[in-house]
Amino acid sequence: KPARQPLMAGNWKMNLNHLEAIALVQKLAFSLTDEDYQAVEVAVLPPFTDIRSVQTLVDGDKLRIKYGAQDLSAHDKGAYTGEVSGAMLAKLGCTYVIVGHSERRQYHHEDDALVNAKVKAAFRHQLIPILCVGEPLEVRKAGRHVEHTLGQLAGALQGVDADQARQLVVAYEPVWAIGTGEVATPEDAQEVCAAIRSRLADLYSGDLADQVRILYGGSVKADNVAGIMAQSDVDGALVGGASLDAEEFVKICRYRE
Ligand code: PEP
Repeated sequence: KPARQPLMAGNWKMNLNHLEAIALVQKLAFSLTDEDYQAVEVAVLPPFTDIRSVQTLVDGDKLRIKYGAQDLSAHDKGAYTGEVSGAMLAKLGCTYVIVGHSERRQYHHEDDALVNAKVKAAFRHQLIPILCVGEPLEVRKAGRHVEHTLGQLAGALQGVDADQARQLVVAYEPVWAIGTGEVATPEDAQEVCAAIRSRLADLYSGDLADQVRILYGGSVKADNVAGIMAQSDVDGALVGGASLDAEEFVKICRYRE
């Protein structure tokens, strides 16, 4: 496959206070070696309240771990109580921001239009969106998973130009596999990740589609990651639960062994 550096990104969700965050990043930093960083890019996506602490640790110790946020506001500033802007995240040294996670779509009613506005907000502030797409169980059962996922992809990328889209990371996360222990088969992951890449080629160009990293997410663990990573269109994993355990997450980063 073309030279796309695999990305292992840990979505901590609403877990760990800032002290626990420091402890986990320290454990990761202690275990990860130059060899690991050469093989994969490692990122953590903590809650907003942890990011300043993670930044201080990463900067102070010159760690090669990247970090980012789990969401951002579609707006840049102003009277939006409770929101956090892309500018604020960029100022904290964030590289990535998750956009359109299924939990945001499901519990916070985020639709494709809002996800699209958030993707654009991320790019306005030089953040790389990790755009999450994927179908719920009913849609999978009806055999409409590819169509559904590609619809979310196209919706999120309305008006996003090629210079921006080239930097995008897409995460295919079938909703029925998130936090359920029910992992998609490597073939299921490959089918949809390949369809995403081919839609990116249609929307932009084959050259751009070859550069974009497409991750799989949904109950990834150390013991199932290798099969998923062996697929030609899977370039990494978005890891929820298993990223809260340093030893497990490091094993996931070492999926080649
Ligand atoms: C996620 O939240 O993006 C995720 C994939 O969660 P889990 O690994 O816990 O299924």
